[in-house]
Formats: sequence, structure tokens, C-alpha cells
Amino acid sequence: MTYSYEAPVSQSLFDRAAAVTPGGVNSPVRAFHAVGGTPRFAVSGSGPYLTDADGREYVDLVCSWGPMILGHAHPQVTDAVHAAVARGTSFGTPGVGEVELAEAIVERIDPVEEVRLVSSGTEATMSAIRLARAFTGRPKVVKFAGCYHGHVDGLLASAGSGVATFGLPDTPGVTGAQTGDTLVLPYNDLDAVREAFAAHPGEIACVITEASPGNMGIVPPRDGFNRGLKELCSAEGALLVSDEVMTGFRVSRRGWFGIDGVVPDLMTFGKVMGGGFPAAAFGGRRDVMEHLAPVGPVYQAGTLAGNPVATAAGTAQLRLLDDAAYAAVDSASERLRGLVAAALDKEGVAHTVQTAGNMFSVFFGDFGERGVPDYEAAKQQETYRFTAFFHAMLERGVYLPPSGFECWFVSAAHDDRALERIAEALPAAATAAAQAQPE
Ligand code: PLP
Repeated sequence: MTYSYEAPVSQSLFDRAAAVTPGGVNSPVRAFHAVGGTPRFAVSGSGPYLTDADGREYVDLVCSWGPMILGHAHPQVTDAVHAAVARGTSFGTPGVGEVELAEAIVERIDPVEEVRLVSSGTEATMSAIRLARAFTGRPKVVKFAGCYHGHVDGLLASAGSGVATFGLPDTPGVTGAQTGDTLVLPYNDLDAVREAFAAHPGEIACVITEASPGNMGIVPPRDGFNRGLKELCSAEGALLVSDEVMTGFRVSRRGWFGIDGVVPDLMTFGKVMGGGFPAAAFGGRRDVMEHLAPVGPVYQAGTLAGNPVATAAGTAQLRLLDDAAYAAVDSASERLRGLVAAALDKEGVAHTVQTAGNMFSVFFGDFGERGVPDYEAAKQQETYRFTAFFHAMLERGVYLPPSGFECWFVSAAHDDRALERIAEALPAAATAAAQAQPE
């Protein structure tokens, strides 16, 4: 595909980056491999907008892959950050900021009696799995195809997100021993979970699931799926680990737990709770969490865990997320979904918009009544139409996630003006999707 617009400064930065960094990026999906073209190097962000190194402004529908739920450079978040920086950036001692952020999490999420702060979602899920294995004394972990839990070795089997975007079945460098205790099952299939427990009696430490998956595109749990998982885990003496790194504090004040009310044993968080800084967490039942060092024997640690700047940003962001803020995010999401669907319908482009609270994604193709219930179905999407759509939007100043396997994120700052700009871009993008041909 050729592109009718250019980004010379981003391209020269990308060339420099590629000389010193594999693929020129520090996280694969940023490289635009799924859609082609030049990744945009961002130099600033404000509210719903990003500005790139070529001086072009975009309405941002990535929002740093979720964290920037109040928009970029929210004044009260940046004030909290400036104040924290002025006090010193890392101490390696306990600090008040960590207590405040932990309290903010425990106060919102009932199943979390205790929480441990870490620096990335990957660390959170890795640590939760270790803890579940130690607590149960069992080796095996059930995960679902298309769910992504960070780049934890044992969880990279059939993972979503970048692994889906790049079509990787698994990742070289991860040994059979590391994934040998991982059972990968189809999502939304309770019978498969039942069969796994029957086939491996007394061996499964936990089932880990995205509370509502967003890493194979949006594939919400069927009614009763999460509850069924909880019941099966309880009956079999295994733990349910609900990964709310993406949904947590985004789809509601209490995340996906606030929507379906299913009480997991352990939960993981990241993204929104860090306010744009590297902060994440895992937490849950006190009797499980107290197996962690220094109370218990399960080792887990971090030089920068509970960093004062990150915790200040996260706490400020959580405090600003009141009912009005969630209503603004929900409303922007709903209006945007309507605009996209109307534009695609007008051009006769078959598609399915799937939603989970205010998170959504668009699958190109005809999925009928069944929609997209799992990873196998998600892989049937017409990615060539997404590519054409993506570039037409980018050219018109709308920055979408550069892969059809990713969630679209909006913020409370996506106001009428931002939505109007998207609306203006959509007709041409829908036409491009309609005219696209498989390569
Ligand atoms: N879990 C889920 C559900 C995620 O979406 C992600 C990242 O996208 C992770 C875990 C990993 O988080 P991080 O990228 O902070 O390591």
C-alpha cells in the first residue's frame, strides 16, 4: 500500500531509532507493522490530542493504550506530578504516596483486601501467578487464547495484543518447560474449563482471565462466564485471577468488577491507576496475599515499586475520576461507536462493533448473530479493510490503534470538537475500507 501523505520528521526519527533499538520501538505494536507506514513520533499531548514530530495534530484514540482516561496533560495530574518531583523522585523507603494509592485501590475494589504495587502489568500478572502456585501448591495455570497478560513467559502461549497482531503462535525464547504448565483454552467456553479440571485433578493452581478481554479486539465474557469460572475454581480448590490491567478503573470506578460483581481471589491492575506512569498492582484475599514476603515465603520485590512520582500521578487521576468523568468517557465512547457504525453502514462495509463498558473495537467482516466470541473468530476479521480505514483516518488527523486486534480508547476529554473531527474523517475512511482489496 502507498500513502498519499508523509511524515518526514517521524521517518527520520524512526530511522535513527532503528539503528539503536530493535525495530525502532520499545513495544512492538508501535512499529505499525500490521498497517504499514511510518509510526508517528509524539512530541506532546493535550486533552484528546496528540502532536507529532512533524507538527501534525491527531485526535488520539489510543490514549497510551488506556492510561490517559482524563486526556493528556490533565492540569491536576501534572500539578501532582510536579509537586512529587520537587520532593524527590525515588527513595527506596516506604512512602506516603504508596499508602494513598493502595488505599484508593482497596477502597474501590471490594475483593482486594491487600494490594502490592509493582511497575508494570506484566509484573503484576507474573507475581499473581507465582503467588497462586505457592498458595495452592499446584503447578498448572489455565489461560484463554487471545487473552494477553503481559509478556510473562508462561503466559505468552496463544496471547493477544502484539502477539496477535504479529500472528505469532508462540514466542521463541520461551521454553517448553516455561509453557508446559500452561493450559490454553478457548475463551467463553466453560465446558473446556470443566474438562481441563477433570483432566488435571488437583494440579491447576489458577485460572487467569482478562476480566473482559480487550487484547484480541473487544470480546466480552458471555453472561455467566466469569461467574462460572469462579464457581469452577472454588469447587476445584483453584484461584480465579481476574486481570483488570486494561478494564480496571476504566470501565467504571470499580472496573469490570463494578459491572459483573464476580469476586475473584486475586486481581491485577495497571494502566489507569498509574496516571501515565509505570505503576501497576496485584491484590486480593488477605489470606492469599499474606503469603508474600516479608510476611510469608513467596518472594516478590521492586526497586522502583511504589515510586513516589508514579503513585502521586495515579492517586491524583483516581481521585479525579468521579461519576461525571466516567459519564463523559461513556458518552464519548457511545457517540463514537454510533458515528463509526453509521459511516461504515453507509458504505455497506460489513462490520461488528463489540463493546465492554466504554471500551470497544471494530471487527471488519460479516460475523452474523454470533459476533466475535473468541480468538478463532477474531482472527477471521478482514484486516486489509482495517488497514485502509486506519490510514484514511490517520491522514485526516485521527490516531487509531495500529492493529485490528486492539481496543479503541477514549477519554473524558474527548469533547464535541474532538468527536466532530473524527466525524469529518469517517466518510473517506469508510469509503477506503469499502474499496480495500486483500493484498
Ligand atoms: N494485562 C492486560 C489485560 C493488558 O492489557 C496488559 C497490557 O496491555 C498487560 C497485562 C501488561 O501490562 P504492561 O504492558 O504494563 O506490562
